[in-house]
Amino acid sequence: MNEYNGISQGLLKRRRELQIRIDKLKKDGDDPLNMDSEEQAIELESSEVQSAIYEGAFKEIAQINKILDMIEKNEYGKCIECGEQIPVKRLEAIPHASYCVDCAASK
Ligand SMILES: [Zn+2]
Repeated sequence: MNEYNGISQGLLKRRRELQIRIDKLKKDGDDPLNMDSEEQAIELESSEVQSAIYEGAFKEIAQINKILDMIEKNEYGKCIECGEQIPVKRLEAIPHASYCVDCAASK
């Protein structure tokens, strides 16, 4: 147990949700395309939206994995600008925060 336990739990939960979303999209994508051309256009359009969601979910999972890895290695929660410990409250609000409040404010 450490001070980031709540954050890890939240991230794991979020990762599961994203995984479920990806699995669902994969399943939907396997459906054969409707041969009616008008409907096909709509399907293609929605598949573009789907791949955007897909990509977003993948990026977020990669980010979550990175944070979990940093927590594991005790490298998490330090400001990359000044090296100060970022307050847990801030990390709980923004798990991928890499600056402390002061450094973020001076950006
Ligand atoms: Zn800082």
